[in-house]
Amino acid sequence: MRLSVKIWLFFMIFVCVVFLLMWLFQVVFLERFYESFKIRDTAKVADQLVSAYHTKTDEAFEKSACEMALRNEMCIEILDSDGREVYYDCMYNGKCLLHGAGSGTFFYLMDLQQSDSGVICRRIFNNTLQNEMLVYGCTMVGSDGGVTGYLLLNSPIVPMESTISILKRQTMQITVLLAIFGAVMSLFVARIISTPIVKITHSAKRLAHGDYGTQFESGGYAEADDLAQTLTYAARELSKTDAMQRDLIANVSHDLRTPLTMLKAYAEMIRDLSGNDPVKREQHLNIIIEETDRLSLLVNDMLDLSKLESGTQKLERSVFDITQCVAEIVHRYEGISEQMGYHIHFAPDEPCLVRCDAGKIDRVIGNLINNAINYTSKEDKQVFVAQKNTPQGVRIEVRDTGDGIEEEKIKLIFDQYYRSENHKREVMGTGLGLSIVKAILKLHAYDYGVDSKPGEGSVFWFTIRDVVLKDEEGKNFA
Ligand code: ADP
Repeated sequence: MRLSVKIWLFFMIFVCVVFLLMWLFQVVFLERFYESFKIRDTAKVADQLVSAYHTKTDEAFEKSACEMALRNEMCIEILDSDGREVYYDCMYNGKCLLHGAGSGTFFYLMDLQQSDSGVICRRIFNNTLQNEMLVYGCTMVGSDGGVTGYLLLNSPIVPMESTISILKRQTMQITVLLAIFGAVMSLFVARIISTPIVKITHSAKRLAHGDYGTQFESGGYAEADDLAQTLTYAARELSKTDAMQRDLIANVSHDLRTPLTMLKAYAEMIRDLSGNDPVKREQHLNIIIEETDRLSLLVNDMLDLSKLESGTQKLERSVFDITQCVAEIVHRYEGISEQMGYHIHFAPDEPCLVRCDAGKIDRVIGNLINNAINYTSKEDKQVFVAQKNTPQGVRIEVRDTGDGIEEEKIKLIFDQYYRSENHKREVMGTGLGLSIVKAILKLHAYDYGVDSKPGEGSVFWFTIRDVVLKDEEGKNFA
């Protein structure tokens, strides 16, 4: 259903409800409302008169009773406890129900004395005046609880028929006007709401066809502005992802093609040239093996990264001593250290138990040390690994003394396939090392980062937050 039709429908329902309420209140129940208001007002006047009768002097009471009779258009009759008239004030020259017309005071006094509540309220037709009247009576009670007298009031009930017929006509007219106004308003409101939505839908269709530069126009109200902003942001992000995907395919095919070309070239060389020369053949075969290793490393890294990022790899958490773990990793690098003259120093803190995925954290530290070896200064060939127990958790730092990283590059190095070209690497790198580090640390929700200034080396760090607490005796909980 179109928005304008829906809004029109709502407006029409609203008009019907208003019409119904007005009809009920102003036509059906008007008479009843009027009567109950009249009774309430009369009862209020009766209360005021009774309290004036008990508190004021005769002269003062008569004055205020006369005023009240005039103001409320009422006839007043006050009788003492024996039924003798004490005060009376008639607005109709003795033609009211109490004085002259109808059954008279005596009848209503009897009625009042017989009533259990001490109050009577009667609606009676006055034949003399030819209109309906209200007779209200109440028993006056003194402070000692004894009956001090009786009060009777008589006031006319205004006929409602003509008022009701006027209101009926007015209600009809208002309803027709409301219906017309509602129809115009609903069209107007529908236009205000739907125009931005229509525009945004057009832009979204362009986006669906691959136009990532589409601008979503903001509408005339906050929600449409928010939607337009969100969609513009989504379009920007989509274009980035698209560009990243294209880069990835280009880089992957480039990185796969290079070793494959080498493999083919050296295999042909062995077949055509060096097949009978054992020394050359050995040399060429070694290159083939090296390239195959590089290829399988790349494929493995790509596979691992895609598994980590797609969320198919779950964390296998276990409790282990992080100090021992780092020491073992550093120990693994001793071979390289000795062969190529690198020195990897480890500065441990107090031994500490952590609960995380040991294999993956091992991979993170290994990748960071690999990079540190590759990028540390070729003069002193030093790499510093440190464990620092902090209130936030165990912080692991890997520092090198290399050229450092420029600020704008820091933002890029953790991104897939960002790699500085033309850098001679001591340890084989696929350009995915830091992406894997980032994926693993994000999976653990650990903080990580790089502190680096060009020329001063870099410190890659991360903080393991899941430290296993010690009990009162200082032992670690397993
Ligand atoms: P790779 O080292 O194989 O290029 P990585 O993902 O491990 O791939 O690193 C991405 C990039 O980050 C590197 O190409 C390099 O430019 C930069 N980088 C990483 N570690 C260091 C470091 N310790 N010092 C300076 N630059 C670094």
